[in-house]
Amino acid sequence: MPDLLVIKSCFLSCLLALLQTSSSQQEEQSQLLLVSFDGFRWDYVNRVPTPNFRALMDEGVQVEQVENTYITKTYPNHYTLVTGLHAETHGIVANEMYDPIHNRSFSMEGPEVYDAWWWEEAVPLWVTNQKAGRKSGAAMWPGSDVAIGGTYPSHFLSYNASMPFEARVEKLIDWFLGPEAINFGVLYWEEPDESGHNLGPESPLMDVVIADIDEKLGFLRGKLKNAGLYDKVNLIVTSDHGMTQLSHDKIIELDTYVSRDLYTWIDKSPVVGILPKEGKLEEVYNSLKNANPNMVVYKKEEIPDHYHYRHNVRIMPLIIEVKEGWTVMQNRNGSFMLGNHGYNNSLPSMQPVFVARGPAFRRDYTKASMRSVDLYPLMCSILGLKPLPNNGSLSSVQDLLVETSTPKPVVPPVPREPSYAWAVGSILGAALVIGFLFIFVQQVTQRQLPPLHLTNSEITQPLL
Ligand code: AMP
Ligand code: ZN
Ligand code: ZN
Repeated sequence: MPDLLVIKSCFLSCLLALLQTSSSQQEEQSQLLLVSFDGFRWDYVNRVPTPNFRALMDEGVQVEQVENTYITKTYPNHYTLVTGLHAETHGIVANEMYDPIHNRSFSMEGPEVYDAWWWEEAVPLWVTNQKAGRKSGAAMWPGSDVAIGGTYPSHFLSYNASMPFEARVEKLIDWFLGPEAINFGVLYWEEPDESGHNLGPESPLMDVVIADIDEKLGFLRGKLKNAGLYDKVNLIVTSDHGMTQLSHDKIIELDTYVSRDLYTWIDKSPVVGILPKEGKLEEVYNSLKNANPNMVVYKKEEIPDHYHYRHNVRIMPLIIEVKEGWTVMQNRNGSFMLGNHGYNNSLPSMQPVFVARGPAFRRDYTKASMRSVDLYPLMCSILGLKPLPNNGSLSSVQDLLVETSTPKPVVPPVPREPSYAWAVGSILGAALVIGFLFIFVQQVTQRQLPPLHLTNSEITQPLL
């Protein structure tokens, strides 16, 4: 084979290899959308026809029993889903918190929600995804409109409870398809939590609310299909907690047992943080210890290990936990709800739904149980990201995935820069082109042949 032909084919194969490397890098960017319907209890899917949930189960996986983290409230559990950490470690220990060291208070209804300091004991998955050079999108997930560690999601919506579900979905679809395309999205919807609180989960009126959520899921499926994303995006539909029925007959009035002057009340029923006034801890504790059989009071160091709810200054020196269905208030003048959550996370009524489908998931597979902290390593595996230290275990949930679905983890950090491999490839490519031209000119000069004639003779040869 003439020298020039050898050089040319070598050059072309190198170029082909470079192109293949770059396209396989693209393929490795699995897509994932995590959806939370706040307060969607695991068994709601059995109450009314829920064809869209059923379709996801048939096309993918369902987990029958998901143990979430203590306390079973919105903020702690949403942060657990995206960090894989129990509340004592990620620091969002309740919807209402107090930090006695820094003398700062947090209420999910206050402006402190936007103070990143509260969130920075952990790093949510959307930030880790971005640190690996990808883009994330967030539609109202708790904490997602906060610059955690100085980083917002690449695309996000500021919290606005009146923005319809459909509009949130449309935003996410745009972000998956847009010029700054995301590969990871999170979507939050306030129902059926709000109706569960107002009506009580056992109300027949809840059937309509559940059917409506199923229709909303149908809307999301339809939009993903129309956008050509349905078979590409891994879709996980879950929740933060369940809901249980309350009753006016099951109210504990704390004023009956202990004076308000002796403590500060932090957070709401059914798990209340009690901050005793200076030197009053034993007095408050002794007043409450055997006060009511439907209430337990723990000194912080006595909180059961399995709650993973002790090692954080934002957890108060005393906590009161009431039995399922009971409400604790200072007196009956406070507002009363017919449904609530926050109770012991091993109660079935506190546990959320979990269904998922997509290229990474097995089909028509039912798993008996998992822990919500396991979702984070599972999502990292789907996204090909190295998980940060967490309380979950990928091996406990690996069976939800098809065997080949785990791409090689991307090694962060390469933030928003072209990858190292691509830079090396480009330099190599340029060197090859220059080398090829140099040898080409050398050959032409040495043989003193007219370049056009030589080129024509080469063209007649096959390039392989
Ligand atoms: P919970 O009673 O613990 O289920 O809290 C649910 C409530 O949290 C919802 O009804 C919303 O009002 C509120 N909420 C959820 N996400 C956010 C957010 N990103 N910003 C502010 N409030 C939120
Ligand atoms: Zn919630
Ligand atoms: Zn709620």
